Amino acid sequence: MNPIPPDMADTILRLKDILQNSDNIVFFGGAGVSTESGIPDFRSADGLYSTKYAYPPETMLSNTFFVRNTGEFFKFYREKMIHPSAKPNKAHFALAELERQGKLKAVITQNIDGLHSAAGSVNVLELHGSIYRNFCAACEKSYPLEAVLQAEDIPRCRCGGAIKPDVVLYEEGLDESIMERAATAIREADVLIVGGTSLNVYPAAGLIRYYSGDKLILINKSETPYDGYADMIIRHSIGETLNAAV
Ligand code: ZN
Repeated sequence: MNPIPPDMADTILRLKDILQNSDNIVFFGGAGVSTESGIPDFRSADGLYSTKYAYPPETMLSNTFFVRNTGEFFKFYREKMIHPSAKPNKAHFALAELERQGKLKAVITQNIDGLHSAAGSVNVLELHGSIYRNFCAACEKSYPLEAVLQAEDIPRCRCGGAIKPDVVLYEEGLDESIMERAATAIREADVLIVGGTSLNVYPAAGLIRYYSGDKLILINKSETPYDGYADMIIRHSIGETLNAAV
């Protein structure tokens, strides 16, 4: 990843200043946070779309598909959605450091890879769930990721039920208590950093409408529908940017 280019030095200084002067920062992140850990964004053109599978990812990641084609679901899920060897990157570590300093109050993420927790963040609101939590669809007994990884076909509970990842599939609603906590954190935030998301995915993207402050910082390589509302836009690596500013 590129280090900070010279013409960005002023921007980084401004960002650093904003972060140093706040004790109520909230971070909202998407797939772009994890691409720097080598996890592809399944919505981007070079992500999962150009794959060998017969159905589009939205179909294979739907609840209907899970119910009707459970074996096929797990084949796709294990191959494309789980990256157990991925490690947190500079963005994850910088955010964990801000929380340790008492400055950052919450990380809200659309990612299911658990990398924020792996980096040491404590208050992580996982809007789309986590690959590390799994439960039996019949009796609700919980299982670790290993149960999904080790099964050759459909991972099964001792009761015979299929083990289902605790990730939000298409057709399923988001967890309302997590949405509520995310909305409250954003509403009360002094600084809101939005990173690695094109803000096109609803309802999660609508969350940033709860922010009413004047320090909305967007860090994303491409344009977003919220660029006009941002107080600072940074088109650079999120890991390098946060690493330089924290
Ligand atoms: Zn069971």
